[in-house]
Amino acid sequence: MSDCLFCKIAAGEIPADIVFEDEQVVAFKDIYPKAAVHLLLIPRQHIVSLDELEPAHDALIAHMIRLLPKLAKDQGLDDGYRTIVNTGPGGGQEIFHLHLHLLGGGRLPGFG
Ligand code: 5GP
Ligand code: ZN
Repeated sequence: MSDCLFCKIAAGEIPADIVFEDEQVVAFKDIYPKAAVHLLLIPRQHIVSLDELEPAHDALIAHMIRLLPKLAKDQGLDDGYRTIVNTGPGGGQEIFHLHLHLLGGGRLPGFG
């Protein structure tokens, strides 16, 4: 997707504070952090949201989920962390390229 912000970050066309990357995914710091640590983990492949997932994505999604503990530990989040996935306008999604939020550090706000 040529006009997708997160595709451009994954391609290195727009700068981001990248903390981890491999052939399948990129993790970088959220530009407007909502916690002391706020990372976004994206697939390099343009997938709009959870709604577009298919069985062919299963290994990719498992890889992403299993990366979260490592990313959290690397950020010093030894006490735990929160993961959020917003889906669609009704779910508060603003960037339409699938991303997992990883937040932690200090006191997180109450939920809901
Ligand atoms: P959403 O609301 O779609 O779940 O989350 C999108 C996230 O992307 C927001 O937390 C927002 O702060 C972050 N974001 C938006 N634009 C940029 C950007 O250009 N760079 C980075 N690193 N994060 C961004
Ligand atoms: Zn994209």
